[in-house]
Amino acid sequence: MTKSRPYNFSAGPAAIPLEVLEIAAAEMTDWHGSGMGVMEMSHRGKEFISIYEQAEADLRELLALPSHFKILFMQGGGIAENAIVPLNLSRGEKADIVVTGSWSEKSYKEAAKFCNMHLAASGAGSQFTTVPAPTKWQLSPDARYVHVCTNETIHGVEFHTLPDLQALGCDAPLVIDFSSHVLSRNVDWSKVGLAFGGAQKNIGPAGLTLVIVREDLLGHAMSVCPSAFNYTTVAEHGSMYNTPPTYGIYMAGLTFQWLKRQKEGALQGVAAMEQRNIAKAQLLYDFLDSSSFYNNPVDKNYRSRMNVPFFLADDSRNDAFLAASKAAGLLQLKGHKSIGGMRASIYNAMPLAGVQALVDFLREFEKTQA
Ligand SMILES: *Cc1c(COP(=O)(O)O)cnc(C)c1O
Repeated sequence: MTKSRPYNFSAGPAAIPLEVLEIAAAEMTDWHGSGMGVMEMSHRGKEFISIYEQAEADLRELLALPSHFKILFMQGGGIAENAIVPLNLSRGEKADIVVTGSWSEKSYKEAAKFCNMHLAASGAGSQFTTVPAPTKWQLSPDARYVHVCTNETIHGVEFHTLPDLQALGCDAPLVIDFSSHVLSRNVDWSKVGLAFGGAQKNIGPAGLTLVIVREDLLGHAMSVCPSAFNYTTVAEHGSMYNTPPTYGIYMAGLTFQWLKRQKEGALQGVAAMEQRNIAKAQLLYDFLDSSSFYNNPVDKNYRSRMNVPFFLADDSRNDAFLAASKAAGLLQLKGHKSIGGMRASIYNAMPLAGVQALVDFLREFEKTQA
């Protein structure tokens, strides 16, 4: 790496590894001697097909994804999936949802346009600072699926173990919105029916949406489902029913290659990333807990490793905090407008050194305000 940049804590679109951006820049006008940039290639030409196949194979390997799951590269983002999932899985009947923050709340309202959504549990009573215990969820015997957002990007609440629906006496497939922690940790696919996520948090530019679907769930889309959003149609055409977001897939592929190169001791890829993410989160939460100037209100068992909301005890200092942090080379720390305060998103592309720089800044800022 030749250059260095300020540390960027954006929740999304978020920082992309500098190495990935530098490769993309070098290949911008001429990809591998083809005389074309990736944005200018036919999605059906051999050059792009090779990019696509490599990206898909690398993703399958990184996710340790069993062969009975399909990978679909789609468009529309996580918010479109809130409609696309019920259009494909609900058959217009019933589905359950657990609301643990703003994102699952949005999913609940949107999906209710297409099927009978049943609220199985809600964390609203705790101001979304914890997750209701799965043993207390009111699951419906006739639900076509159960929706959970496994990392609530705004409230900073993460499931560290996926719910085991079968152990709860429920045969419905689990649908997870893993937009903001995809590839940050291993996934137990034996518990999952479908996973979706936008790319702009941990993978690459906005515009690409990842859908991972168990094959036996295909084939039941409602007749009103748009063809480009019908998982079966998309799967049958290898994500080329319509023109896929080619540049986003290329960038994602470069990130997958970068991820495969990451090492921590004997660990590699996602396992290395997971260990690094645990260390990053611990460094930041330990500091926040040691200070009375800052606080994070989330239940320690559900604190997100990716999105760390925090509040200054005296919020009249917020503007000064944001100006000083920016001047110190720590960008985009402002919290989501719906809950205020600050938020540090520390996705895969954020190194431990970036979190250390943030902690050093937090300590210094507190001193200057005494
Ligand atoms: C960012 C995000 C989304 C929404 O993505 P869009 O691309 O804006 O549709 C959905 N779910 C979660 C958990 C997110 O973090």
